[in-house]
Amino acid sequence: MTSCIFCKIVKGEIPSAKLYEDDSTMSFLDINPINPGHALVIPKNHYPTILDVDEEDLKKTIIATKIVAKALKDALSCDGINILQNNFEAAGQLIYHFHIHVIPRFEGDGLKVWSGVPYKEGAMEDIHGKILSAMRK
Ligand code: 5GP
Ligand code: ZN
Repeated sequence: MTSCIFCKIVKGEIPSAKLYEDDSTMSFLDINPINPGHALVIPKNHYPTILDVDEEDLKKTIIATKIVAKALKDALSCDGINILQNNFEAAGQLIYHFHIHVIPRFEGDGLKVWSGVPYKEGAMEDIHGKILSAMRK
């Protein structure tokens, strides 16, 4: 897609701090890292969200994510790694080229990725039923 920043990175039209590349995927450092070493992993083909990604490209992107996560662990000796992936504006997606965040984490770095809230009485059963119905469609 011509206007997509990540497609331009794939084509080398925009520079990136490349970490990994194979026939189908690429990884590079995020320019606004949550922690230093925060990496992005993308399929080279353009898909806006996870709902659009070809399954073979999705598998290859996950495998590349594991390779990058291992390299971050070895290089940074981080204590943990978050794998995050945003879809649509409400979830914080800014770039509509499917990508996976690989975020090195350190004890006491103070980042709170999310906080859970227990279900109210009966609410879990309701939503469980709704999701299972959608899966049967
Ligand atoms: P999203 O919010 O869409 O999940 O994340 C998009 C990420 O892309 C952001 O963390 C942002 O810092 C990163 N980003 C945006 N533009 C560029 C760029 O031109 N180069 C690199 N390396 N990262 C970018
Ligand atoms: Zn793209």
